[in-house]
Amino acid sequence: RQSGDSPLYPLLEAAAGYYRQALKSHPARQAAVDYLKGRGLSGVIARDFGLGFAPPGWDNLMKHLGGDSLQQKALIDAGLLIENADSGKRYDRFRDRVMFPIRDSRGRVIAFGGRVLGDDKPKYLNSPETPVFHKGQELYGLYEARKSSRDLDEILVVEGYMDVIALAQQGLRNAVATLGTATSEEHIKRLFRVVPSLLFCFDGDSAGRNAAWRALESCLPNLQDGRRVRFLFLPEGEDPDSLVRREGTDAFRARIHQQAQPLADYFFRHLMEEADPSTLEGKAHLATLAMPLIERLPGANLRALMRQRLGELTGLDPATLGEHAERPSAPP
Ligand code: ATP
Ligand code: MN
Ligand code: MN
Ligand code: MN
Repeated sequence: RQSGDSPLYPLLEAAAGYYRQALKSHPARQAAVDYLKGRGLSGVIARDFGLGFAPPGWDNLMKHLGGDSLQQKALIDAGLLIENADSGKRYDRFRDRVMFPIRDSRGRVIAFGGRVLGDDKPKYLNSPETPVFHKGQELYGLYEARKSSRDLDEILVVEGYMDVIALAQQGLRNAVATLGTATSEEHIKRLFRVVPSLLFCFDGDSAGRNAAWRALESCLPNLQDGRRVRFLFLPEGEDPDSLVRREGTDAFRARIHQQAQPLADYFFRHLMEEADPSTLEGKAHLATLAMPLIERLPGANLRALMRQRLGELTGLDPATLGEHAERPSAPP
């Protein structure tokens, strides 16, 4: 699909402008301002990320940008308006929420996330898939991270908008978020085009830990020798936002320095939770689990070294391990 000159871009940009302006001057803005301040964000960070406010009400944006029916159709395509299938009534998708514009790598607004100001559900509402927004590919904050520094050497991958922004507020401006979707190979390819080193730092809960392993799986086929992937696991109940605000930047950096696990370490630690190598059966199981994953590695050196480590853990001859395995092949 050709989206290079989509008419949706100017609409999305205009909507971002409307939400930004509403955060500055709408009569109902104070609740949003207080919410953001309560989460420790400054006006500077709000500006850097283009944060906005969708006021309460069903048709604020529609009134502001709506125009004729043709224009409203385009706003529906952009994910900004919703049309009720039965009544045909149109209304704003985002209402009474703090708004996070999602930009593509060129800085164009392609979608939004909106957060309620309290504990209502759903907490976050995201734009739907549109001709210019493909969830499985985009990374929130990547444009802003690249803008903050010409030569990033590592990117932190986190789960949420507020993690990215809270880290930036604390001076760690190299974080991006996958926005509730699994880290895809497309995400990884995109990130490795920007930096040689990735650090995954998901929430300290079971969802976050599952997400980390899935991220590892997406990394394996893209881990050429010379690239680095690490994982930082947070204490139960913490996410990067809560932790960096509680501990501060230096402690967070120290945590990375002291506790981030190289991919290979996490790999074996995780698999050994499933296959206990203190028994022969466990060793055999470990080899069975590990070999197909190791063979996905494109870097010949890391592949050999991980086979060797598997040999040490199981007592199997690394050469034999290699023989039994299928050749590395591109994933489907
Ligand atoms: P906060 O700190 O603002 O309460 P969070 O970012 O810690 O929220 P999580 O529940 O950890 O929220 O979710 C991580 C990310 O997943 C969110 O930032 C958002 O991008 C996405 N997400 C969470 N809940 C939803 C939802 N109901 N719909 C769509 N996306 C969601
Ligand atoms: Mn979570
Ligand atoms: Mn959070
Ligand atoms: Mn979280």
